[in-house]
Amino acid sequence: GMKRYSPEGATPAMAQWFALKAENPEALLFFRMGDFYELFFDDATAAAAALDIALTARGTHAGEPISMCGVPVAAAPAYLARLIRRGFRVAVAEQTEAPRKGKGAAKGPLARAVVRVVTPGTLTEDELLEPGRSNLLLALVEGPASTGRGRKGKGAEKAQKVKADTPLGAAWIDVSTGLFETASVTQASLAGLLGRLDPAEILAPADLALGDFDACRAPEVLVPGVEAARQRLASAFDVASVDAFGTFSDEEAMAAAVAVDYVQRSQAGKLPRLTHPTPQTDGGILGIDPATRASLDLLRARDGGMEHTLFSAVNQTVTAAGARLMAEWLSAPLTDVVRIAARQDGWCWLRDSTSCHTALREALKKAPDVARALGRLSLGRGQPRDLSAIRDALHAARAAAAALGDVSRLPPYLAKAAASLGGAQELEAELVRALAEDLPARLDDGGVIAAGYDGELDGYRGLRDNSRRVVAGLQTEYASRYGVASLKIKHHAQLGYVIEVPVGASSRMKDRDDLMFRQGTASNARFSTEELAGLDARIAEAAERAAAREKAVFNALVDAVLAEQTLPVLAKALAVLDVQQSCAMLAAGGSWCRPDVTDDTAFDLQACRHPVVESALPKGTRFTPNGCDLSPNRRVMLLTGPNMAGKSTFLRQTALAVILAQGGFPVAAEKATIGVVDQLFSRVGASDDLARGRSTFMVEMTETAAILNQAGPRSLVVVDEIGRGTATLDGLAIAWSVLEALHSTVRCRAIFATHFHELADLVDTLPRLAPHTMAVREWRGQIVFLHEVLVGSAKKSWGVHVARLAGVPASVVDRAGRLLKELEREHATGPKPLPLFDTQKILPHEEENTLRKRLSEVDPDTLTPRAALDILYELHKQA
Ligand code: ADP
Repeated sequence: GMKRYSPEGATPAMAQWFALKAENPEALLFFRMGDFYELFFDDATAAAAALDIALTARGTHAGEPISMCGVPVAAAPAYLARLIRRGFRVAVAEQTEAPRKGKGAAKGPLARAVVRVVTPGTLTEDELLEPGRSNLLLALVEGPASTGRGRKGKGAEKAQKVKADTPLGAAWIDVSTGLFETASVTQASLAGLLGRLDPAEILAPADLALGDFDACRAPEVLVPGVEAARQRLASAFDVASVDAFGTFSDEEAMAAAVAVDYVQRSQAGKLPRLTHPTPQTDGGILGIDPATRASLDLLRARDGGMEHTLFSAVNQTVTAAGARLMAEWLSAPLTDVVRIAARQDGWCWLRDSTSCHTALREALKKAPDVARALGRLSLGRGQPRDLSAIRDALHAARAAAAALGDVSRLPPYLAKAAASLGGAQELEAELVRALAEDLPARLDDGGVIAAGYDGELDGYRGLRDNSRRVVAGLQTEYASRYGVASLKIKHHAQLGYVIEVPVGASSRMKDRDDLMFRQGTASNARFSTEELAGLDARIAEAAERAAAREKAVFNALVDAVLAEQTLPVLAKALAVLDVQQSCAMLAAGGSWCRPDVTDDTAFDLQACRHPVVESALPKGTRFTPNGCDLSPNRRVMLLTGPNMAGKSTFLRQTALAVILAQGGFPVAAEKATIGVVDQLFSRVGASDDLARGRSTFMVEMTETAAILNQAGPRSLVVVDEIGRGTATLDGLAIAWSVLEALHSTVRCRAIFATHFHELADLVDTLPRLAPHTMAVREWRGQIVFLHEVLVGSAKKSWGVHVARLAGVPASVVDRAGRLLKELEREHATGPKPLPLFDTQKILPHEEENTLRKRLSEVDPDTLTPRAALDILYELHKQA
């Protein structure tokens, strides 16, 4: 830590550094010195290692060299991005007074102040953000009652964990877009919220467990009391009471105040423009617990990448804001059939109106990211391209409205979006007139405002440019006046405009009294004239005034943009339309359908596919679609079949179909009917927890417990291999009882994949159980996976065959085969296979069967060589 350095005896500049560092002990301090941000002491060591840049030293402190490293200001965003990604926070200290010329240096270092603390949850720059994802800061606060109880006690009581039933206030802000929402949650529902929001940074009490999100924890902050919190919010939004925006629980208000404060402090007191805090009620959203999210690769794959995800399989959006909204919808599917149908009506209309769809898509392609541009502009961090983004988006919005045509013929969902596109025409016209054609990257570069827009600016620019022209004209005049053909007039940073001649020619000019000698170098001599100095001063003054005026005009435009209330609504409408056209695009291909989402517990998918697995199949391989019927009278599907037969794919595609359907998206199926699911539980594939030292079986049972405790009759449960993590009989018993519980107690729709074929016998006692199996064919000693789900149960284990394929010696495989037969005979106590089972498809061909039968009758161990030869002849004849 920094403690071992005491500021005592520091140079004035370092004393300033110590003071700023003390205000921001948790952050690396970027200390502006000229064109660099410098880092010192431990900050320097840490940053140099993280950024792989040179570590140097600058002077000494307390007898030791001061470690130092630096990054150029121009390249700072890229370095910041790397530091933030590595979990650092960065306080940026700028020079808050202009560099003094000449003798000012004696007065000590320039004033500096931290203008911003860059943290993962408070980013605004495109360089630091993922365009297609929101970037949330989440504040979690315990309810007021528990805050008192938990904090006042001492010792044991203080160490007590936050209780499961403690109400928690949650508030989340996306500084880059201004989104601001709140909710009340319980400890039990917290994990679901975290998974859904995927926040970049979390403010939470130290004793609140955040699971996988613990790495996002920010240093702890003070939580205001209820009354102070409500006042704080009201004043931030300039209203008498926050109740104007909805009903906030005490803990919600507290969390919202914490979030607002944190954002404001991170921006050195400036609050970005935020939407009014909007309380979210938990109802209306499909419950997806973290384990389910992890097993389905919705937005991010388990390898952390974005490629093999549901998002990438369905995303056809053309704007960053559209992609963000799409991710939001996929993360939080709905449960309200009316809202779902509204989304569906929208894209179906677009799908069927090809020319509107095409025109809309083309218009949207030209729409920049309004929300993030507004975010930067509202923090005074806007650059020319943020204004042009607004201008272009307004243009695109008009084009989009034109593409949609007459609002009265649109379905309501599209009509509502279309109606929000018309505003801010005057602003657009103003921006079109104001902004220059070729915009510079930065306001300081000048040339942002178009000529002819502002008279005063044009005047200064005219003065500046005229004087420059006069200067340019002087060169020829001076060359002839002083008789030096190679004379040049040049501009130098320190000297301003000077006459420059080769050293050889300078002797001729030194004694002219209309010339002042300014500077000599090895090859050149520099002079100025009174005329030149006067022009120089005029140009400098005009340029300065032009720059100041340009800034003022720019700021006026920014104010006009921020005053335009319709922009956030328009931005949202563009995003909605983008997601809608993306759905239409998907559905237009013909292999995605509009699901029928109903209010009952129907469930019937026909020829459904796994869009991610399908797109990852090698060329020439076809994905085998499968139906899935979980209608009330057969709502629990038992699925058997060997590994690699396609069980997990089938389970996942069924869960994904529900997410897509309830998100209002098209589904990868020929036809789908889905009674709204309230909670989705998916346990498929190996758990990552293994790496964390919990045994597979413990994880399995914890997750099973979570399902049995939380699932209800409207839930969908898809589970793979319950009971695999323990001894066979143990595992069978557990799988059995879990299956019974799902069927008879929870009474939900479920797919239960297992390698315990015995469970198929439960069909006698569990009337809604429907045994299914993955079709497998044996052909010339090979196993062929057909990936087809058939009614029936696998009465055959394939382990012995797999062993042969893997090269286990034939004698061992044969012995295993015989042992298996024995065991099967002994265990054949249950009912005979039911006629319902169509086992035809999974049994080997008839001929092969007789061969096998004959072979199984012989015991090679007791056979004479003569008898063995006879049998071989006999078999050969049959083959
Ligand atoms: P299991 O869970 O039974 O071990 P998986 O579902 O992981 O099997 O499937 C194994 C592989 O088989 C997949 O990676 C995929 O390549 C292929 N596969 C699965 N289902 C299908 C299908 N319906 N059509 C075509 N290939 C499939």
